[in-house]
Amino acid sequence: MSSDHRIYSYSAVLMGSPILLKLYSHNEALAAQVFRLIKQYEDLLTVNRTPSQVMEINHAAGRHPVTVSRPVFELIRCAKAASLVPGSAFNLAIGPLVKRWKIGFKGDSVPPAQEIAALLALTSPAEVCLDEEAGSVFLTRPGMEIDLGAIAKGYIADRVRDYLRKAGETAALINLGGNVQTLGSPEGGWTVGLKKPFSEGEALVGALVVSDKSVVTSGTYERYFERDGKRYHHILDPRTGYPLDNELDSVTVISTDSLDGDIWTTLLYGMGVAKGCAALRARPDIEAIFVTRSQEVILSSARHFRFTLLDNTFRLTDNTV
Ligand code: FAD
Ligand code: MG
Repeated sequence: MSSDHRIYSYSAVLMGSPILLKLYSHNEALAAQVFRLIKQYEDLLTVNRTPSQVMEINHAAGRHPVTVSRPVFELIRCAKAASLVPGSAFNLAIGPLVKRWKIGFKGDSVPPAQEIAALLALTSPAEVCLDEEAGSVFLTRPGMEIDLGAIAKGYIADRVRDYLRKAGETAALINLGGNVQTLGSPEGGWTVGLKKPFSEGEALVGALVVSDKSVVTSGTYERYFERDGKRYHHILDPRTGYPLDNELDSVTVISTDSLDGDIWTTLLYGMGVAKGCAALRARPDIEAIFVTRSQEVILSSARHFRFTLLDNTFRLTDNTV
């Protein structure tokens, strides 16, 4: 634990990610409860080890439905809905491809094209069948796998915020490694750094100030490997089975719920800057910051945050209407 003015920071490693909790009170017991809560959700939702409820669903693919707890069912329902949006880059059934590429894990490799084509056939979100009454999930074909890696941290960040609010905290921040959720508005807001893609250490492109908002970043620079001079990152295009290839290095979404932020970073990654900004005109509750390979920083709007550019090698475009 370290203290910075009146802020107390607590850290842990969970979900393969560094976790940081900031409180305005020195409360080791509360921090331990928060980390326990995150661990409980990790144990339900992980696909990186057994047992978990999601792994049970995956193991029963093509055989039988599995009844899961309400939070897991609701999260899967939400992930399926996001996957079925026409043209969506989000796909909760992407598991077989994630497992084959192993990007960010030991043993990563570029799969042969025919293997990718075969695995793509096992990624139809429509074949994730939900039975509302039974609270069960059934993957219709053997080999199908759900992967909630693009959405679970957002969901968990929101549960941590709710838990802290219920515990009487009025100001707190949780960072689940790319997913930041904030409670309250201490001293005018929380400052969240926007990482400089592919830089060493803690270099920042800019900083945001938010209150009671989530800030979620997905980047091609977080988990990737290089083979024969080509970079392969962990956000896969569900249409091709290969990493999404466009002008973006990162997308940051500012929203009330981190769940929305987590879904929208993936959706926007698939859309790119122009289509993404157009789509967000219909969603005043969701705002984005795009960082491109050509060192542009584009704000879709900035109604719910303040942004300061810190690195002048980047050009800032503010689309605020
Ligand atoms: P996001 O951009 O939000 O999501 C990218 C991730 O979503 C990919 O890593 C992949 O899992 C999945 N994905 C890829 N393409 C798509 C797509 N088109 N649609 C939908 N999903 C897609 N990491 C470890 O190293 N070890 C662990 O033990 C471990 N355990 C975890 C347990 C849990 C419960 C969770 C939520 C994560 C865990 N992770 C672990 C991290 C995980 O493997 C991912 O790297 C992480 O969730 C990615 O989050 P992100 O915000 O960086 O990226
Ligand atoms: Mg995400």
